[in-house]
Amino acid sequence: MFHRIRRRAAELNEAEGQFFELSARLQQPDSPEAERVWAELERGKQFAAVDDFLPPELRVPSRDQLGGMMMPWTQPLVLDGEMVACSECGAYRDWLILCTRDQVWLRCRAGHQQLETRLDTAWYNRNSGPTVSRHATFEDCLRHHGH
Ligand SMILES: [Zn+2]
Repeated sequence: MFHRIRRRAAELNEAEGQFFELSARLQQPDSPEAERVWAELERGKQFAAVDDFLPPELRVPSRDQLGGMMMPWTQPLVLDGEMVACSECGAYRDWLILCTRDQVWLRCRAGHQQLETRLDTAWYNRNSGPTVSRHATFEDCLRHHGH
């Protein structure tokens, strides 16, 4: 066990040594080595920015990274004292409420969608719980909600 730890420490020292050697070389700004490494770092920037964090599948995207959000709304939706009904089929309950690009859309069970200008993202955020699942496509998400 101790032996293993010592060996690990030796490996670390070696890595450290390589790092310092590389750093020293990079101190000479005009060396081709420095140019190559900086170019590599530049290319790798995007990955470096995420690699120090959780793997993608464990990360919860912030809400502005999502294409949109939706939640089921089974009870009638009353706005300004008026019950909202689907303009095409008259349904007034069992909505899916979609929120995308600061617009809120209502989708009835029959799949009709209408823009609801009296609602916005702030309303959606106040009335939705935490995000419980993520879906790659709009259709997957609809299926998830049984629509
Ligand atoms: Zn409808």
